[in-house]
Amino acid sequence: MALLQNKVVLVTGASRGIGRAIAFKMAQEGANVAFTYLSSVEKGQALEAELSALGIKAIGYRSDASDYKQAEELMNSVVADFGGIDVLINNAGITKDGLLMRMTEEQWDSVIQVNLKSVFNLTKAATKPMMKAKAGSIINLTSVVGIRGNAGQANYAASKAGIIGFTKSVALELGSRNIRSNAIAPGFIETEMTGELNAAATEEWKKSIPLKRGGQPEEVADACVFLASDMSKYITGQVLQVDGGMLT
Ligand code: NAP
Repeated sequence: MALLQNKVVLVTGASRGIGRAIAFKMAQEGANVAFTYLSSVEKGQALEAELSALGIKAIGYRSDASDYKQAEELMNSVVADFGGIDVLINNAGITKDGLLMRMTEEQWDSVIQVNLKSVFNLTKAATKPMMKAKAGSIINLTSVVGIRGNAGQANYAASKAGIIGFTKSVALELGSRNIRSNAIAPGFIETEMTGELNAAATEEWKKSIPLKRGGQPEEVADACVFLASDMSKYITGQVLQVDGGMLT
């Protein structure tokens, strides 16, 4: 029996990278998948067809996760189209790196808005249908950078550390309603986001990882399946590192 048979999962930012891998794993475990994209319209539309071919219900929505109103409208559409929501995965995220001395207000605001405010927007919108159903699992993508900090990523680190505080607070507030809230902290995962980094620096990083390699999006998605499913039904308020031992 698949782990997520007939569950309704919403993944934000699934047109590429980790979000795309999450959407596939969820579908392979029998879930019906709602997902969002923003700028990668063609990839988003193609994903809807690819997921549907797996025999589950899949709908892609073009929606900006950083926009409160759009998040509300998205949730209303998902509930109308799928009949409810069991699992919310806040994955959408961006980087706008730079040393603090050179970081602009725009770089700060946009990263906080897309990475952190989006988690508030979607979680708030999901609370009502999840409370009605007396069940839910919320999974937020943070980062090892949110735990440890990283030179050149003060905005990103702050957004990801904020997600951890938010995740734990929601676990405390909604535990009595049988709604769980956990975070996943990936380390170095090979996607377009990390593809932008300098190749020599990347090789150095890999050497410092105990498992001696970068992670794959599917390896993060496996952790999502665990936290989405009843396999983790007594786990809430946690941050699960998927980092090859990087922060050990
Ligand atoms: P990615 O390859 O750059 O993909 C980012 C995804 O987010 C895209 O699908 C993009 O959609 C979507 N997105 C961006 N802004 C959005 C918005 N305002 N509304 C809706 N969707 C939006 O990134 P990734 O590497 O897969 O990272 C996914 C998540 O994992 C992020 O939260 C990231 O911070 C976190 N993470 C990644 C790593 C890593 O090593 N890669 C490590 C730790 C944490 P469009 O292209 O359609 O705009």
